[in-house]
Amino acid sequence: MEDLYTKSGGTAQAVATGAGKFSPYENANCLQLAFLCITFPGVKKSILSSLVLMLVAVCAGAVPMQVSALHPLMADLARQVGGQRVQVFDLVEEGGNPHRFEPRPADLKRMQASALVLAGGKNQEPYLERLKTALSGVTVIEVGRTIPSLTVGKDAVYTCCPSHGAGALDPHWWHGVDNMRRAARVVAQAFADKDPAGKDEFTANANAYGQRLDTLKRWAKGELVKVPRGQRKLVTAHNAFAYFAKEFGFEVIAVAGLTREQNTTPQDLAATIEAVKKSGVRAVFPEKNTNGKVLQSIATATGARLGTPMISDGNGTGREAGFEAMIRHNVTAVTKALTAP
Ligand SMILES: [Zn+2]
Ligand SMILES: [Zn+2]
Repeated sequence: MEDLYTKSGGTAQAVATGAGKFSPYENANCLQLAFLCITFPGVKKSILSSLVLMLVAVCAGAVPMQVSALHPLMADLARQVGGQRVQVFDLVEEGGNPHRFEPRPADLKRMQASALVLAGGKNQEPYLERLKTALSGVTVIEVGRTIPSLTVGKDAVYTCCPSHGAGALDPHWWHGVDNMRRAARVVAQAFADKDPAGKDEFTANANAYGQRLDTLKRWAKGELVKVPRGQRKLVTAHNAFAYFAKEFGFEVIAVAGLTREQNTTPQDLAATIEAVKKSGVRAVFPEKNTNGKVLQSIATATGARLGTPMISDGNGTGREAGFEAMIRHNVTAVTKALTAP
């Protein structure tokens, strides 16, 4: 990281001057288009009319505000709230893992040309302070900063990555539906600060999204209540579900050896089997791309079934990308596995 930032420092200054101000892009584009229209009077009529339309749109300030996101769910949130007024760059990319992500030189360039950078906050991005220094002049918003925090249990066997170990701040606030609705308001305010003319639109979008999330939460509650009280325990591979569990009245038991990030030792395996047996739960939930053999041996030793892999941190792809699809997927997986006879 240090090297990367130092190396890109020169370029950073050059590109960063336009960040947060839209007129440099607009003026440059206006001039280029005007130049094209004057220089090529013989250009086809249809092309010319497209150019004129673009010219009008650009000069009228219709260029969307560029927003970069360091987390797939922050990118989703930015699209929900920003609508047509923003152009969102999801730097982690669909299906990516925000715990593993570190900005590459191309990402830095992208962020330097953005009006805003959205991070999850709560130390989800351990590199954030260094990034802010490298991006001087670009506003970086820690979307989850004001959302009430949970702490990773002191006896947690395994969490998600070395930055989020036992006793640390749990960054996974985005697994709570109420938290996401609150975050939409934070993002609407941040967008309005940069683009005051869009304030009403951002507020309306955040409100409409909030209403959809209310409906989603009512549905989720209605599903999860079908799980017998004694089974409301989530044995998950990735210790990402504390906020989800708190919201819906579940207890989280995170065990070693089920994640895509961890190599399983015989001790891990024994501890996992012990934890699953002790919990008395009927199902354990892996995450995508986990070690199938390990999971099978845990299931065989404990008699628990393997649930459908959970989507954590917005790593769903295709139809399962985005926050609402993630919640629907996880609620369905949990309800199905823990209510089956
Ligand atoms: Zn982590
Ligand atoms: Zn995570």
